[in-house]
Amino acid sequence: MITIDDLIQKIKFYAPNADLDLVRLAFEYAKKAHSGQKRLSGEPYISHPLATAMNLAEMKLNQDIIIAGLLHDIPEETRSENPETALREIKHNFGEEVAFMVRGITKLGKIKYRGMERYLENLRKMFVAMAADVRVIFIKFADRLHNLETLGAQPSSKQKRIAMETMEIYAPIANRLGMGEIKGRLEDLSFPYLYPKEFEKLKKEVTPRYKAKEEYLKKVRIKLLKSAGQFSPQRIKVYSIHGRTKRLWSIHKKLQQKGYEDLSKIYDLVALRVIVETVAECYTVLGIIHQLWKPLKGRIKDYIAQPKPNGYQSLHTTVFCDDGEIVEFQIRTKKIHEEAEYGIASHWYYDERGSMPVSKDLKWVRELTKWKKELEENQKYLEALKIDVFQNRIFVFTPKGDVIDLPENSTPIDFAYTLHSDLGDKCTRAKINEQIAKIDTKLQSGDVVEIIIDKNRKAPSADWLKFVKTNAARHKIKSRLRAAKK
Ligand code: MN
Repeated sequence: MITIDDLIQKIKFYAPNADLDLVRLAFEYAKKAHSGQKRLSGEPYISHPLATAMNLAEMKLNQDIIIAGLLHDIPEETRSENPETALREIKHNFGEEVAFMVRGITKLGKIKYRGMERYLENLRKMFVAMAADVRVIFIKFADRLHNLETLGAQPSSKQKRIAMETMEIYAPIANRLGMGEIKGRLEDLSFPYLYPKEFEKLKKEVTPRYKAKEEYLKKVRIKLLKSAGQFSPQRIKVYSIHGRTKRLWSIHKKLQQKGYEDLSKIYDLVALRVIVETVAECYTVLGIIHQLWKPLKGRIKDYIAQPKPNGYQSLHTTVFCDDGEIVEFQIRTKKIHEEAEYGIASHWYYDERGSMPVSKDLKWVRELTKWKKELEENQKYLEALKIDVFQNRIFVFTPKGDVIDLPENSTPIDFAYTLHSDLGDKCTRAKINEQIAKIDTKLQSGDVVEIIIDKNRKAPSADWLKFVKTNAARHKIKSRLRAAKK
């Protein structure tokens, strides 16, 4: 089991200036809140938030996000208090940012899964969470990774559902955000629950090949280091040359797509990754590799000059290596490498260190807009994904979990009229996040809104016109008032 010391060690490594005492405090706080609780696996509950935080540290995320990861299940999973009290206390102890993220996770957790026909709806909810704060999605990924790792303890129907949901929703979103490492882990953890036979068969076939190939690549690695490394005439700063084993799910998909019978044509089962400092050095290394070994035709890919749609960059080449073996090389800079593994999350890392000032918000909004376009082109879901611009819109939930998209500063009255005229006309009060609220309260993204009606009410109130935001509500109130006068 992971310990808090492991976590602290890990953070220290990439963020020496982090407030590690605060991280430890958050751990103690979570441990106390979950005391006596157990996971289905029998482990103490705290093992879960700790593993979640560890996954976040793996992405080199900052201290606030890691603390939010440690606290993420307190409002929902501890029985003692109501979620709002817990959130207030978290805000008091760990600050607004942390509380904001924990709230986001709590809201996302309220959404019940109702089968794959609800796929798009789920997708939209992930959008909503992202629109509010993409860091919430990082925590959700970290949380899901550990839930998948411990999925064996769950009943089999739940295993299938979680695995399916991961494949259909989480992994594509991770991919879209350029988080290749996370996407790969999510898929390989879900694979055995969805296709157990195929998984076992593939694993049996692949494992011995991995071992043989890794031995072989050790020699290739030394040869390349001699030709390209610091002691060669080129004196390239090679950070690392390491083997990258292809993920099982990705092999499975490739076999199916290409209709291959066996693994013999999959050349990148184990690839050698070469990490250097500059882009220019990437091309130099490519040249050196081609001098040492003959490249296969049509297998040289320059994703640095032409990145993949999700932003992936690297130089790929496949060569006839020593003893007739075929080997793929992937060459990239250190910075590109981090981006390829953790995508958007890696920008947080760079931002924190101040070495890569990117406008983080715009970048991912752009990514999502691109994604949305693709979806629209591919599918007829234009209506379902009608989220035009994230700015100036909020997204709120019905008690059943449907998402309603409204202009900023909308009120429960706008919400009611968007759902149904009758609901608007008879509205008397609202519940926002299970708390009674006035009908002119400004709604926030992620709020769960329930309208309380008075069946005997005949018409809306003219006062409502003073605060409603949507044209639909204004129009309906006016026409109903006119009708009532007559
Ligand atoms: Mn959790």
